[in-house]
Amino acid sequence: MKHYHGRAWLLYRQNRIGEEERRLMEEHLASCDLCLQRYLDAGTEQDALLAELLLPPDFSDRVKEMIRSRRWQAYKKQRSRSLANYAVAAAITLVLMSSGIFDLCARELPGILAETGQIPRAIEKTVQWDAGRLLENARTQLEKLRQSKEE
Ligand SMILES: [Zn+2]
Repeated sequence: MKHYHGRAWLLYRQNRIGEEERRLMEEHLASCDLCLQRYLDAGTEQDALLAELLLPPDFSDRVKEMIRSRRWQAYKKQRSRSLANYAVAAAITLVLMSSGIFDLCARELPGILAETGQIPRAIEKTVQWDAGRLLENARTQLEKLRQSKEE
């Protein structure tokens, strides 16, 4: 199989190759990994030169700025989601408070936690403020409380 050199691929990329030769190169490129690599290598140099000519000098700063602002958008979105979680947690808290369950918890929970040896873990979870996990934790504790009442 006849391979093409990097120089040939550079000319190809610069569109300085005859129609027939171009077609042959494309056919070859479709089935040859070596030439595909040479074609890509020829591209990086060529594209870098082209990019320098075409792109404004502050291009990379602008891209970085864009990425930063996208991250900020994502952060803000995530933050509003955790605020929504917080709102749900607050609503559940209000419902539980009005049903007097916290009075029950205040009396029963420390004993239950001590029994299961979960106080350090419970504190860790509360410090690592995560509404979702806090809810899950509360649900688990309430489940335990309910079970212990049934016994
Ligand atoms: Zn080849």
